[in-house]
Amino acid sequence: MKSGYVAIVGLPNTGKSTLLNVLTGVKLSPVSPKPQTTRQRVVGIVNSPDHQILFLDTPGILEPRYELQRFMKQEIARAQADADVVLLVVEPAVPNLHSGPLETVLDRRRTVVAINKIDRIPESELPPVVEHYTRSGCSSVVPISALKQSGIEELRNALLTLLPNGMPYYPQDQMTTQPERFFVGELLREAVFMSYGEEIPYATIVEIAEFREQPGRKTLIRATVYVERESQKGILIGRQGRALKRLGSRARREVEIFLGQPVYLELTVETRPGWRRDQAFIRERFQDN
Ligand code: GDP
Ligand code: MG
Repeated sequence: MKSGYVAIVGLPNTGKSTLLNVLTGVKLSPVSPKPQTTRQRVVGIVNSPDHQILFLDTPGILEPRYELQRFMKQEIARAQADADVVLLVVEPAVPNLHSGPLETVLDRRRTVVAINKIDRIPESELPPVVEHYTRSGCSSVVPISALKQSGIEELRNALLTLLPNGMPYYPQDQMTTQPERFFVGELLREAVFMSYGEEIPYATIVEIAEFREQPGRKTLIRATVYVERESQKGILIGRQGRALKRLGSRARREVEIFLGQPVYLELTVETRPGWRRDQAFIRERFQDN
């Protein structure tokens, strides 16, 4: 039996969350076309009779400008330190030496490079990219498309090769170690990313104020969306509350699919000036609850 932790790392927007969802077969991690959707690591568990792989999703690598980004960077380092194997997700271009995502990888000998989004390039462009990462001393290099679900089996095998022998860490019917309310918060944030342009998603943080399952009735979820300025609050709510209503129905659909049950979702918007620089506020909301 093989079992161990795999930290998924890489630049923002390379497809880490998409890949995690494909590997686990469930939508555990939010995906969006905008970078930096993932703010906290997520554990997804892949079970089979002969292995258990525990995936840590991480925020994209970036320089810490705000408290929030500093927190994200710590999470990336922590995930790698905790992991047996590092899965580096890159896009199919040969990076220049200085901005290379490889620099953040702590130990290349236990690193698998997934070259993702190969559906976007002609096949002839692939060999130099594979060559670049192979020469860098990483354990293996696997071209994939998370979106088209190709190369996934090869990738899983490459990871298993590096995974230590051992008993499963968690019961083999478990999919994650995060509580449901955590994923509900993530789905809400994803809905914000999908529904609003430019600055709004980066200025929001979602708090699940209440999550109550009620026998014979819809599950009640009350959530607060915090923004930094009154003007952002106005945009989020929209004329006669229409934008917020749209956001609510979008989020509710996703949450209902995830939980497999009908949900009553109540959304409130609040302004909290400068929350992105408020370390205590961020920590409180990002602790594994
Ligand atoms: P993350 O920031 O690394 O977690 O990236 P996401 O998983 O959120 O994906 C970022 C964007 O890339 C989304 O729009 C995805 O749909 C897209 N994407 C992910 N994997 C692929 C792929 O294999 N091919 C293509 N064409 N797009 C992809
Ligand atoms: Mg992500």
